[in-house]
Amino acid sequence: MGYPHALTRVEGRVAIRNGAWEVTAAGAASYSNQNLFAVRTNVTNAEKTIFKKIIDGEIPADIVYQDEHCLAFNDIAPQAPIHVLVIPKKEIEHLDAISAEDAFLAAHLFTVIQKVTRDLGVNHSYRLISNCGAAAGQTVPHLHFHILAGRNLQWPPG
Ligand code: AMP
Repeated sequence: MGYPHALTRVEGRVAIRNGAWEVTAAGAASYSNQNLFAVRTNVTNAEKTIFKKIIDGEIPADIVYQDEHCLAFNDIAPQAPIHVLVIPKKEIEHLDAISAEDAFLAAHLFTVIQKVTRDLGVNHSYRLISNCGAAAGQTVPHLHFHILAGRNLQWPPG
């Protein structure tokens, strides 16, 4: 069964049961909110973030560390001699979207940040930033931590 085209007018019988709905069209085809969920899923895939594309190997990145749960790669527009991004492979929009079920992942991200800074030789002297929301400067809606190091960093930030 296909999906109704966005501009197609579908006429038929509508049944609503337990919060689910279904339209049985005159020609016997039927459409339900299950179908629309599938359409929505496709739209979500079409709108993958740049970081999800890196996770899925669809675009390249200069990866410095990865494991089953997270990925660290050089920022494409470095703001310091060392500028590495650490991200979870799980799609979490930002800090505010971390939930209790992410407890292991959240702790693991900090372990990875320590490992990456040690491997880069900047442990004990780096800045960690996570911009949460557009007004705070977040441009990619996938949780990430910026590790900045290799120069004197000013405070307060802009
Ligand atoms: P934010 O502005 O906090 O959301 O940070 C997003 C960061 O992602 C910026 O520092 C960008 O330079 C960086 N960035 C965007 N696209 C890429 C990419 N393809 N590879 C590496 N870093 C990227």
